[in-house]
Amino acid sequence: MNHSLFFAVSTALPNVTCLAREPLSRHTSFRIGGPAELMLCPKKEAELADCIAFCKTQGIPYRILGGGTNVLAPDEGVPGAVLLTRGLEEIRQISDTEIEAGCGLSLARLALFAQKAGLTGLEFAHGIPGTVGGGMYMNAGAYGGELAQVAVSARLLRPDGEVETVEGPAMGLSYRHSAFMEREGVILFARFRLTPGDPEAILARMKELAEKRRNSQPLDLPSAGSTFKRPVGGYAAALIQEAGLKGFRVGDAAVSTKHAGFVVNLGAATAADVLELVAKVQERVFAASGIRLEPEVRIW
Ligand SMILES: Cc1cc2nc3c(=O)[nH]c(=O)nc-3n(C[C@H](O)[C@H](O)[C@H](O)COP(=O)(O)OP(=O)(O)OC[C@H]3O[C@@H](n4cnc5c(N)ncnc54)[C@H](O)[C@@H]3O)c2cc1C
Repeated sequence: MNHSLFFAVSTALPNVTCLAREPLSRHTSFRIGGPAELMLCPKKEAELADCIAFCKTQGIPYRILGGGTNVLAPDEGVPGAVLLTRGLEEIRQISDTEIEAGCGLSLARLALFAQKAGLTGLEFAHGIPGTVGGGMYMNAGAYGGELAQVAVSARLLRPDGEVETVEGPAMGLSYRHSAFMEREGVILFARFRLTPGDPEAILARMKELAEKRRNSQPLDLPSAGSTFKRPVGGYAAALIQEAGLKGFRVGDAAVSTKHAGFVVNLGAATAADVLELVAKVQERVFAASGIRLEPEVRIW
């Protein structure tokens, strides 16, 4: 990034932490990704809006990064700005059964807030390592639950600077998909409607699911969770295993030996390694089963 741009950023966004050539590998759960030309870390909604307005006036392309737990970032990095949302972590209870949370709040903290308030419905989300914004964008789900079951609305900051409330079916939440994927904008807040429940029972369910996760997933290695979506008529992990691909490697990217649905980084994997591995897995699973696996991970 040139000196004059850095000067322009610090002048226009005095309260926003701004990092030049920040390695994305520091911000993705895969621990992969070259530098973002500019990384902006707003802590308030107004600061986020200012960042977007700044990028627009300067003609700088921008992307949104939440927890970075479902992104494969390129080895060469990305031009323009990456707006990190993790500072936007407000949360409040707005009625007996409704909670509203900022996009940067972790799903774990969201679920614990609900548990303490005696509200059930978010236990499944406790072990998903992303943020509220990324979770809504992906319609994150696990163990029979998904955000679609409890999300009532989201507030979207549009590129024109207007804030729009997107409600119910307009959010287009379906399996690992949302209408937010088809439009530009930043999910600022999401509202969830839950059901009164016993805090002890809610906590017990969270612990039970955490145990299941620990037993079945390679949580000790960097990954982005399930690499592929569940195809119609099967499970990605089972198809990959049946194709004999458990442990299959390209460089330091490998199909996990613990859970064949996960691609893991054994140490020095590059995005190129992961992409080649993904292509080979798709090819071999298709040859073995006739089913074409589609990545769930967002490839930048
Ligand atoms: C060990 C492990 C286990 C996992 N288990 C599960 C699981 O059980 N179920 C599941 O569904 N997922 C799982 N995941 C994947 C991931 O945690 C989810 O997809 C999560 O919802 C991603 O949230 P994030 O904040 O990390 O999003 P990111 O990875 O930061 O971003 C994902 C996409 O959302 C966009 N985005 C992020 N925030 C916003 C926003 N505020 N507004 C607009 N767009 C935004 C990004 O631009 C990007 O395209 C797992 C991942 C790991 C590493």
